[in-house]
Amino acid sequence: MVKKKNILICFDRDGTIIYDDKYHLGSQKNWKDLIRFRRGIFGSLKMLNKKLPDAKIYMISNQSGVAIKDFPLLTEKKSREVCRYIVNLIKERGVDLEKCFVCPHTTKAYTKSHPQFTFDKKILCNCKCNKPLPGMVLEALRDAGWKRENTSIYIVGDRASDLQTAHNARGFGILVPFGNRPGEKKLVGKLKDKERHISKNFGDAVEFIVHRENGLRA
Ligand SMILES: [Mg+2]
Ligand SMILES: [Zn+2]
Repeated sequence: MVKKKNILICFDRDGTIIYDDKYHLGSQKNWKDLIRFRRGIFGSLKMLNKKLPDAKIYMISNQSGVAIKDFPLLTEKKSREVCRYIVNLIKERGVDLEKCFVCPHTTKAYTKSHPQFTFDKKILCNCKCNKPLPGMVLEALRDAGWKRENTSIYIVGDRASDLQTAHNARGFGILVPFGNRPGEKKLVGKLKDKERHISKNFGDAVEFIVHRENGLRA
């Protein structure tokens, strides 16, 4: 493994930073009341800031719900507002977090796996930001002003597709399993890329990154 100059860490939002009750946050009037952070988030992120002070932390989120016609309140603008609001709540707790990138598009695969909804066909497109495509990670890299060659990239998420995103961005993927998706661990087992790790929880994922980076830098 090669020592790299910069460290970029992207955390998924739903199911990783906050609970994912499949409620398409932003589709309700009282969405602010529905935000529930996963246990230990703030302490772990502060620890990450302290142990790897030069690392830059981002949140990345697919918000395919924007394309669902049954949720008229969940516009692209609203999805970005929800993300900014969550980022601010985290910052208010003393965490150094850069910003959030959102993919408000949707894919054919998503519409097929959610037959209970009707979709706005206009938002069904071949964008480059819908995970597992690496677009949002590359945006974060640009925002940090770093090049991929000399940046150690981590993606932390609750789905196998988050680890595929890491692979596509030539980074390291970490799965933090979330209760309502028991199948993800199995899917991760099928991925060919070995640049990955399964954590017990969020704190464990953060510790893993710190240890791995210290190992690379020793
Ligand atoms: Mg997720
Ligand atoms: Zn997109």
